[in-house]
Amino acid sequence: MLVLVINSGSSSLKYQVRDVAAGSVLTEGLIEKIGMGNGGDGDGEIEGPRDHAEALEQVDAAIHAELGDLELAAVGHRVVHGGERFAEPVLIDNEITRAIERLNPLAPLHNPANVLGIRAISKKWPDLPQVAVFDTAFHRTLPEHAWRYAVPDELYTNHGIRRYGFHGTSHEYVTHRAAALLDLPVEEFDGVIAHLGNGASVTAIRGGKSVDTSMGFTPLEGLVMGTRSGDLDPSILVFLGRQGWTPEDIDSMLNRESGLKGLAGNNDMRSVVEASESGDARAATALAVTSYRLAKYIGGYHVAVGGAKALVFTAGIGENSHQFRALVAAKLGALGIELDAGLNSQRSKEPRVISTAESAIPVLVVPTDEERAIAEATAAVVGSR
Ligand code: AMP
Repeated sequence: MLVLVINSGSSSLKYQVRDVAAGSVLTEGLIEKIGMGNGGDGDGEIEGPRDHAEALEQVDAAIHAELGDLELAAVGHRVVHGGERFAEPVLIDNEITRAIERLNPLAPLHNPANVLGIRAISKKWPDLPQVAVFDTAFHRTLPEHAWRYAVPDELYTNHGIRRYGFHGTSHEYVTHRAAALLDLPVEEFDGVIAHLGNGASVTAIRGGKSVDTSMGFTPLEGLVMGTRSGDLDPSILVFLGRQGWTPEDIDSMLNRESGLKGLAGNNDMRSVVEASESGDARAATALAVTSYRLAKYIGGYHVAVGGAKALVFTAGIGENSHQFRALVAAKLGALGIELDAGLNSQRSKEPRVISTAESAIPVLVVPTDEERAIAEATAAVVGSR
């Protein structure tokens, strides 16, 4: 079954055509600067398609140029926010599209772009089934004590203010692969998954299900990220507001100027590690803060899952930065965790164990593949119709 996987951003559209049975990628690409251009029919000064429909024409042309005539079976969309309703991938119809649109206020940068992508495809290929795969869905199993914020009830009932959690497609995929690596049925997997990319989140998994996760009402809460602050005292925002900062100033500072960038002046983990190794004190502090914060979450989630059977690293930093993994593991001695320096520094694209035989629990590196998970979920929904 050939599935087109679409990840629509407000001004970009990433796509992959996947052969689900073979697990392979036939072609992929990225259309950028959507809404900033004239579609190439003007004076040539402005690049980029006019809108998502025009971007889709470019995707169609690129796919056909690359692969010739092919029969797509379905489209799978990465949808960031599924609110409280969506716990599973769903077949999209008009009512589902409107439901995703009603969640726009909860994900103002993402859900409107998803809806534009879905409507553009309905118009172009009205008979092609479309499936929405939600970033929040895997975390619908959080118990109430983990998703409630201790604020007046009306903030939840009137505004939907609660922990939703994100990166769910990745956490779910990695949970299954980690359980398989340990030869455990997924229902018996208790562990902690650290998805460390430009955005980063950590999830507590009990019996194969998400029982707590560090991102909250938005993807800002939790770990120190590339440009996002993660947790901080909310009074800081009140203080800044009284100093004359606008909500937009605060939003931009927390989401775009903080994290590694705020601490070290650079949001790329490779550069921060290199700078620290060559004696840059700010970079060393950034790594210390970032690894300490993650280690605290791992300790907390070890308790939340009743004793983790594994700690798993994934995504850009988790899969590739042996230095960062070593910094985190060095803070986990109280849990009896011990990395094998040789295994940790080996490079591989395969799921693998990087701890010593003496380590109290195994530490794993499991590469994530959100597009693959979306394609498989899409094929499963379409196949079960
Ligand atoms: P992602 O969002 O999953 O693509 O991850 C992006 C992050 O992964 C960036 O901070 C990169 O610096 C980091 N990253 C990618 N490759 C490496 C590497 N070889 N070593 C260290 N960090 C890496």
